[in-house]
Amino acid sequence: MKKVIFISAGPGDPDLITIKAVYHLRKSEVILVDRLVSPEILKKYSNSKRKIIYVGKRSTYCSSSRNENPLYLTQKKINDIMIYHALQGKYVVRLKGGDVSIFSNIMDELIELKKYDISYEIIPGVTAAVGAAAYTGIPLTARGYASSVRFITLHDPNSIRQDQWIEFMKTSDTLVFYMCIQKLDYIFDKLIMNKRNIYTDKLVAIVEQATTPMQKVYTSSLYNCKELIRKEKKFLSPSLVIIGKTVNLHRKFKWTSDLYFFPKKNYFVS
Ligand code: SAH
Repeated sequence: MKKVIFISAGPGDPDLITIKAVYHLRKSEVILVDRLVSPEILKKYSNSKRKIIYVGKRSTYCSSSRNENPLYLTQKKINDIMIYHALQGKYVVRLKGGDVSIFSNIMDELIELKKYDISYEIIPGVTAAVGAAAYTGIPLTARGYASSVRFITLHDPNSIRQDQWIEFMKTSDTLVFYMCIQKLDYIFDKLIMNKRNIYTDKLVAIVEQATTPMQKVYTSSLYNCKELIRKEKKFLSPSLVIIGKTVNLHRKFKWTSDLYFFPKKNYFVS
């Protein structure tokens, strides 16, 4: 039967993958791998005969010269490779970082599979926000701190309207920004534009390489968030930003693990 299995690799710690994902990885013949997938997953959980194809793709908004670079495959090229192998009846796995349904272009690939009448399964996993929340001790919806959480990205600067930025400051929801580390200045400018809206009980956390032994957490008040960028200058990829009252809990509940069995390098396929 012609089929593609979409597998969520989790945010970094290779042991955050599900048992169901491992079951399929072991049987796979062809694995199409994204950026931000731990190479340890392939080493540890796939069989030795499988073919691995790295299809790491920068955002569709990257410059055309990058898209011409063979290292940066276009979505069309990725679709073609996936369809080619599925039509040959191979056991095809599409392995993506975090959870496959969160900020991952899975829909483009599903549309393509439907065109060719190829069936699929989607295996959920730990998205970066959830992994970062656990490994930093920031419960995103802690009672009395936040009753909702929002996952946000900025495809282009205009994708969020001015009134939404104001609402972001007023809400008690925890906000998690993905794919935004290049746009931190812009995001913080927008958020603190109107000083009246800054609530002193809210903090900002930037979580770098969450769930790996290199994880780093930087926290700051909203007032000082620009200062944080000036001081640190550059945050390593991948990073995300958590904003809300819940970030206060990090100081109290942060923890460290002595259960990392994996090397301190090469956590992500880049
Ligand atoms: N599908 C993925 C998200 C892909 S978008 C998921 O569910 O997590 C890529 C963005 O996710 C990165 O730019 C970064 O903001 C975030 N991200 C992924 N892994 C991360 C990690 N280990 N630590 C911090 N942020 C991470």
